[in-house]
Amino acid sequence: MACLFCQIAEKTQPADIVYEDEDVIVFKDIAPKAPIHVLIIPKQHLATVNDIDDVHIPLMGQLFATAKRLAEQWSIAEQGYRLTVNVGRGGGQVIDHIHMHMVSGWKRPV
Ligand code: AMP
Ligand code: ZN
Repeated sequence: MACLFCQIAEKTQPADIVYEDEDVIVFKDIAPKAPIHVLIIPKQHLATVNDIDDVHIPLMGQLFATAKRLAEQWSIAEQGYRLTVNVGRGGGQVIDHIHMHMVSGWKRPV
């Protein structure tokens, strides 16, 4: 069975989707840690950063490019935001489908 984030990408599992293109989908984190907390994921299933191969490098770049574009769109590029990718259980990863957390909007930077 497809993993949870594959199901969100396939629209068989509901999510609050804020951006989508051919390769990338972005949706709101179900348990936000700040006023803005979205997850940027490749539609292709890759479990962790440890599974990235040379062929995936452009796709990984698209995650950053998406974050940059959304930051401009949401007018948070200047104030700043945090991009986090957890890797493996020891790195805090709970969902085994690569995802980039994009978090912003604390009152004070932390
Ligand atoms: P990580 O600990 O890096 O694997 O992060 C997983 C994130 O996925 C957590 O911040 C969860 O709140 C979030 N999450 C889990 N299930 C869902 C869901 N169905 N829709 C949106 N976000 C989710
Ligand atoms: Zn998946």
